[in-house]
Amino acid sequence: MANFTPVEEIPKIREELHRTFMSGKMRPISYRKEQLARLAYMIHEHADEFREALTADLGRSALETDFLDLRTTLHEITETYRNVEKWSKPDRPGFDFNWFLMSPSIRKDPKGVVLIMGPFNYPMLLILPPLAGALAAGCTVVIKPSELTVATSGLIAKLIPQYLDPDVCRVVMGGVPESTKLLELPWDHILYTGSGRVAKTVLTAAAKHLTPVTTELGGKNPVVIDPKSDLKLAARRLMWGKYTNCGQTCVAPDYVLLPQEIEEVFIKELLEVHSSFYPEGPKNSESYPRMVTKQHAARMKKLLDETQGKLVIGGEVDLDDRYVAPTILKDIHPDDALMEDEIFGPIMPIITVRNEDEAIELINSKDHALAVTVFSQDAAFRSKIFDNTRSGAAIANEMIIYHGTSGLPFGGVGPSGSGGATTGKYSFDVFTHNRASLVGRGFIDTIILNGRYPPHTAAKSKK
Ligand code: NAD
Repeated sequence: MANFTPVEEIPKIREELHRTFMSGKMRPISYRKEQLARLAYMIHEHADEFREALTADLGRSALETDFLDLRTTLHEITETYRNVEKWSKPDRPGFDFNWFLMSPSIRKDPKGVVLIMGPFNYPMLLILPPLAGALAAGCTVVIKPSELTVATSGLIAKLIPQYLDPDVCRVVMGGVPESTKLLELPWDHILYTGSGRVAKTVLTAAAKHLTPVTTELGGKNPVVIDPKSDLKLAARRLMWGKYTNCGQTCVAPDYVLLPQEIEEVFIKELLEVHSSFYPEGPKNSESYPRMVTKQHAARMKKLLDETQGKLVIGGEVDLDDRYVAPTILKDIHPDDALMEDEIFGPIMPIITVRNEDEAIELINSKDHALAVTVFSQDAAFRSKIFDNTRSGAAIANEMIIYHGTSGLPFGGVGPSGSGGATTGKYSFDVFTHNRASLVGRGFIDTIILNGRYPPHTAAKSKK
């Protein structure tokens, strides 16, 4: 691609950012705030271009982009701007009579030169708010957006140098060769958002330099439906959560677990929602997005060819249009092709289970998901599922939007991600070193700590 960064320039970029970091340019909070304000203005002043870019890349409506990428991204950056002074202040440990004279504190030091690599599915949200966190922490930063979202990543690469100081933030554009070169270099932290498969490469490369890494990955997110729950609400939220961004959402529902006795009535509710969401049919609807590439659509087609499940609705794939219909399948066996890996597309398998215990067993037979979701108005039912499973988040009666909930960490656990969360203050923390600090005072030796010095006489040990 014409706008990919030449591989031989990449080490120079890191070197320049390292020099800026060591020069102390990012130490003043006022300078960090200036960069954050510029980043917010960049989005604000080019919002329409971002909306158009996301329509080109993912076939999204402007409203979906506003709701899922733009507004949350701006909110995260402005919250970071507002809080950076507070977050950067040293913490003080609790009062301890033995130590208070040495003024123990925890400095909030920037880690250094950091690398942020992002996926294609939310190309603003998963790159720009973490960038804000890194700038707020006082780091210098390379961002590497996905090569698959050509329009949005291209826009980011064009605008960042116009708004941010190139001494502190640079964009590297590219695919595997450019990412591989980036990963050969020593970073002070890497934040990688993407698939578990590539995360193994990232972690292996980072291990060579002992570079700390935060991974934000995917997984199979189960949804458990309590038969006594509000099925209309569950159907509406589930359909929205699944088909938004054409199922290409890391926290989208992957599969649905419900008891046999409500399957028919629940499917009826799902079909009603389907007609109300796409009265003109999904293919003609401006509200229904597209897969990011033809190859991603072809992967869905392969899954549909391989599944043994029974088609309830959908199933149509048009590779040239990157179109995969919103699809529901039932009679899915736990060993079905759809139950192997994260689906990451608009196919929703429904699996019947005898009870919550069977649902829990099935969930626990898979890697820890990013989110376990329960539709239930019964607190005991919700607790039973949450207390007996593990996931990045435990969500009831909602889908996806918890990413934007102020103050909540967004991240996985184990195979769905580790090394910190990437929203708000959590993002600042990822790029911050909690540096222990003490100020020793000479007079302390005369009153308490003299005994430590040799000779270690019996008289001293009695003190
Ligand atoms: P991906 O792993 O293919 O790509 C992510 C990044 O890695 C891109 O910048 C890409 O250029 C780079 N990359 C790809 N192959 C590489 C290689 N061999 N060596 C080095 N770098 C390489 O992920 P994707 O397909 O863009 O995104 C989808 C995945 O991301 C899904 O699994 C989804 O669940 C996950 N995801 C997770 C979160 C989260 O916050 N936990 C958010 C969004 C997406």
